[in-house]
Amino acid sequence: MFKGILIEKDDAGYRANLKDIDDAQLPEGEVTVRVSHSTLNYKDGLAITGKGPVVRRFPMVPGIDLVGTIESSTHADYQPGDSVLLNGWGVGEGHWGGLAQKARLKGDWLVPLPKQFSPQQAMAIGTAGYTAMLCVLALERHGVMPAHGEILVSGAAGGVGSVATTVLAKLGYTVVAVSGRTEEADYLKRLGASEVLNRAEFSSPGKPLGKERWGGAVDVVGSHTLANICATTKYRGVVTACGLAGGMDFPATVAPFILRGVTLAGIDSVMCPRPDRLEAWRRLGIDLDVSKLEMISTEISLADAIPTAAKLIDGKIRGRVIVDVN
Ligand code: NDP
Repeated sequence: MFKGILIEKDDAGYRANLKDIDDAQLPEGEVTVRVSHSTLNYKDGLAITGKGPVVRRFPMVPGIDLVGTIESSTHADYQPGDSVLLNGWGVGEGHWGGLAQKARLKGDWLVPLPKQFSPQQAMAIGTAGYTAMLCVLALERHGVMPAHGEILVSGAAGGVGSVATTVLAKLGYTVVAVSGRTEEADYLKRLGASEVLNRAEFSSPGKPLGKERWGGAVDVVGSHTLANICATTKYRGVVTACGLAGGMDFPATVAPFILRGVTLAGIDSVMCPRPDRLEAWRRLGIDLDVSKLEMISTEISLADAIPTAAKLIDGKIRGRVIVDVN
């Protein structure tokens, strides 16, 4: 038996509870992992609270991230005792995930734990941090350099935003953080933001084009915020879009794309091919100041993950949440 959060949906409704689960209930997979830590991402918050249609099969163990040690493996690349991590691949949505003491998975989904990170640090990064790095890599791939001007990061006090701000600042970019929490301005400046703007400046309908300001952007908010960022991005600037914390719509015009050559780069971490994942984790090992992870993250127990998920969806959690599942 092992402990895990189980989401159920039936005539009694949608609910998440901490339960004792029998090993025999684990799904099929080549590799069994003794999980040490998981995390809470925005998607986990939606799954646990039921506020978004994340879970595709019931009962489900949520948790799109995990880190742990291989207990048994029939996969050629992994032996018992190896330290591994996992982000995405539909785990915690359609396949049992990381918010439990055990997981059974496809070996090809795993990434060896980079030696630069402890298990806790890997989860302080988690999907949010790895997605932030995918955004940074996309900016680089499209040629955005520090000399091209300020980089805007929206939802900056959240998980993706905190890691994006930290990494971009270390790489020498001038980061302008956008946050709805003015009380987090000091925190964002300590991560490396040069300026903090109020989210309200971006969240209402704006003009098709505005004054050019951003060399690039990392947007986790979507909706009017993403439209306004595109409208104020400089000629040939690049906007990476990875989130929908403010809405799934995109009420924009094509003006920034056809008149200013702005690039809108979509970022998906879930099905991201393995070479790109390995590259993102390799770069996190180089370009993320691990001493900042303590400031970015808080650690909670498995039982606390359920109430904390609701706070996260309400935008009340700063940075990243590590879950110690043991
Ligand atoms: P968090 O909850 O940690 O951060 C989201 C932040 O967005 C909040 O902290 C808040 O920042 C801001 N925010 C919240 N609600 C609103 C709102 N209504 N309007 C404007 N801003 C808002 O989530 P994550 O960082 O884990 O994820 C951020 C987004 O990115 C989510 O939508 C998530 O689904 C998406 N995501 C996508 C991935 C992909 O593969 N494409 C992978 C990972 C995440 P502040 O208080 O500073 O304003």
